[in-house]
Amino acid sequence: MNRFMQRAIKEARRGMKRQHGGAFGAVLVRNGKILASSHNTVLKYHDSTCHAEINVIRKVSRKFKDYDLSDCEMYTTGKPCKMCEGAINWAKIKKVYYGNSYKDAYNMGFNEVIGNNKDLVFERIESMQTSKLIEEWNNSKKKKNLLIMFDIFSTNIYSIQ
Ligand SMILES: [Zn+2]
Repeated sequence: MNRFMQRAIKEARRGMKRQHGGAFGAVLVRNGKILASSHNTVLKYHDSTCHAEINVIRKVSRKFKDYDLSDCEMYTTGKPCKMCEGAINWAKIKKVYYGNSYKDAYNMGFNEVIGNNKDLVFERIESMQTSKLIEEWNNSKKKKNLLIMFDIFSTNIYSIQ
């Protein structure tokens, strides 16, 4: 068994034992070294975003004061849900190793594809005030600094609604 996955499993057991949340653990690794590990703490903090994957991303980002974790790999006991997949994407993590599948999670009582809410609706409210934010952001120094770091315009973002 892979030692990083073993650590993730240990974390999942720790979380279950303490009744912090479901049977989920995650580890972030850089250059063959474990930076941090976390388990699901949804029940402990009464916070639906406290999945193991997001918890470990937060831990490492705070520790190194860096949201760019592109040189890290994640090991997680279950295939990340859509929320965690989004967080992994924003953290720029390039590789995720996982144990249990979505089907396995379903057998534990979790729906990793739609989460807890099949009735979610998004509705756009357009206003001059929100549009003004775009102009303010585009004129800000922060944006110029971010563009240097991200190269976001290498992707065609104009097709995104
Ligand atoms: Zn998740």
